[in-house]
Amino acid sequence: MRLVNRALAFTFALATSAAAQTSAVPIQTKPLDPANLDRSVSACTDFYHFANGGWIKIHPVPAAFARWGSFDELSENNQTNLLTILRSAAASGSTQANADLRKLSVYYSSCMDSAGAEHAGGQPIAAELSRIAAIGNRAQVEAEIARLHSMGVRAVFGFGATQDAKNSTAVIAGINQGGLSLPDRDYYLNPEKRYADIRSNYKDHVARMFQLVGENPAQAAADAQRVVAVETALAKPAKTRVELRDPNANYHKMTSAELAQLAPGFSWPSFFSGEGRADISTIDVQNPVFMKVADSLLASAPLDDWKAYLRWNVINGAASTLSSAFVNEDFRFGSTLSGTKEMLPREKRCARYTDNGLRDALGQAYVAQYFTPAAKQRALEMVHNLESVFHDRIQTLGWMSDTTKTQAETKLTAFTNKIGYPDKWRDYSTLTIQPGPFLNNVLAVRQYERRRSMARIGQPVDRAEWGMTPPTVNAYYSPQMNEIVFPAGILQPPFFDPNADDAVNYGGMGAVIGHEMTHGFDDQGAQFDAQGNLRNWWTAGDLEKFKRGTGLVASQFDSYTVLDSVHVNGKLTLGENLADLGGLSISYAALQKALAEKGRPANIDGFTPEQRFFLAWAQIWRANTTPELARLRINTDPHSPGEWRTNGPVSNLPQFAAAFGCKPGDPMVRPESVRPVIW
Ligand SMILES: [Zn+2]
Repeated sequence: MRLVNRALAFTFALATSAAAQTSAVPIQTKPLDPANLDRSVSACTDFYHFANGGWIKIHPVPAAFARWGSFDELSENNQTNLLTILRSAAASGSTQANADLRKLSVYYSSCMDSAGAEHAGGQPIAAELSRIAAIGNRAQVEAEIARLHSMGVRAVFGFGATQDAKNSTAVIAGINQGGLSLPDRDYYLNPEKRYADIRSNYKDHVARMFQLVGENPAQAAADAQRVVAVETALAKPAKTRVELRDPNANYHKMTSAELAQLAPGFSWPSFFSGEGRADISTIDVQNPVFMKVADSLLASAPLDDWKAYLRWNVINGAASTLSSAFVNEDFRFGSTLSGTKEMLPREKRCARYTDNGLRDALGQAYVAQYFTPAAKQRALEMVHNLESVFHDRIQTLGWMSDTTKTQAETKLTAFTNKIGYPDKWRDYSTLTIQPGPFLNNVLAVRQYERRRSMARIGQPVDRAEWGMTPPTVNAYYSPQMNEIVFPAGILQPPFFDPNADDAVNYGGMGAVIGHEMTHGFDDQGAQFDAQGNLRNWWTAGDLEKFKRGTGLVASQFDSYTVLDSVHVNGKLTLGENLADLGGLSISYAALQKALAEKGRPANIDGFTPEQRFFLAWAQIWRANTTPELARLRINTDPHSPGEWRTNGPVSNLPQFAAAFGCKPGDPMVRPESVRPVIW
């Protein structure tokens, strides 16, 4: 469970659903293996299946996964490396000299202690549950909400440090809508049968968990009903994910007096003091309507409803760290949403928890062993090449006025690049990790992160901060920092391969870099200026032309279906689809520049450099996915499914049609009238 951080970050892909458990990880020996193709499909009809059909046929989703593709393969490889580090740290135990390695050793070992977890059962949360059971009035409900927040459990709403969207040098307090356990508001409110079924499963799941902490079946069922009632009431005023994409509509900076007026029932002074920050005077409230409703619900919902809700938050926040009865039930319900059939082995789960918890301690050990200065240097060169091409393209854009071009240039020039790992690692000297129940260590880390977050409020922005751990197979752009960030974890094959030809590296990592750069100029990123402030820098005419282009991309993706009846949401995925389109065109131009400078290499396996560029792009999106996860992601993920991330952008690019000899009328050639030309 992560602490709230309101900082926007536009990622390259959703975090992988789980690390792999299969031993049959294929070792790819060629940067592009022709065996992965399906030549029975025409590249001009369905490029994704032409490029990946062979691979897709022989790589079903392993039982411990909901998806299996390039991201998952690489992530599995990284997780195996993390395990090597952790096993070795655990073998040296508490005797090793390095304090961070000692903490890693104790943290990982306490997670691995299955006998201890079985013996303890629900004991690690018993005292907290008793506290809640003894609550006799609403002031105590509020105090418990604050207490859970200090333990990293986001009951009712989210609260944390955030960069001020209109003054990017300042860190202020931020409050988000929250308090739900299901993935999205729709899961509580949508009347369709598939959502109703999930709700009914969810209610059973909550009841089973209550039984595990000692409630009888009747009481557990009644309490589950109370939990669903509170969460449904919180879901109603929650904004949709599409509504949350509008940064102006979600910016409501106010004084603590104004917050007290908005939500007068809640005692904010004690909440803030409970967080150790009685001095908080400025808060950005993402969704004031939500806070108003939550506030009145505190007064109106029965006390027993709130007590059940708080108890559930404690159980749910701890379940995955407790005995197998809790872990299994937590997994069972999660698998109804994801389609994952088996749990990962314990050591792999523990490696993931340690990566999430002691992020910099493990990250530092990881890069020391698995990331070279040479890899960092090569990635940096690629970023510089892409930046230079992006500058050229801005200059040659036919639709944009010189006034806006100057602003766009300024923004691009101000980009910060972060590659591999943070320059400054977190100092864990104030964090105590001890042998004993794993939950205690998880709570110690959550409290450490909470203190860190609270201490940032009122301080200047820390520009050294990273939003991802080094082994992560992903990347992001932050509009408020105006920075692009590439963790060490993604700077490897098939994204980046020092032994591959330029075409493959530009179609993979080059397009990833271009993607993150384009986020600075997608429908959301374009609303922030070079300093990371939410401020319009566009002329009215240019903004209108830009919106016409982005509208074409939104309707293009609205027309794509997954699982026959479920549609991609063009508005939810707009920023990512724009980033893919921009990233691919910029990286293609960078490849052309490299070919012009170095000369054209011979074809490889019969493919031209241009063809290999697009095949490399398709290759990173190959995946098999469970129907459950496909559905979940359509509802919640701002990234389109890999099939459409391949076919969507390439069918907008005349360079693709030229590379594969596709003709007007072919499915992979969108008519010029609906083809967006943006970056
Ligand atoms: Zn992205």
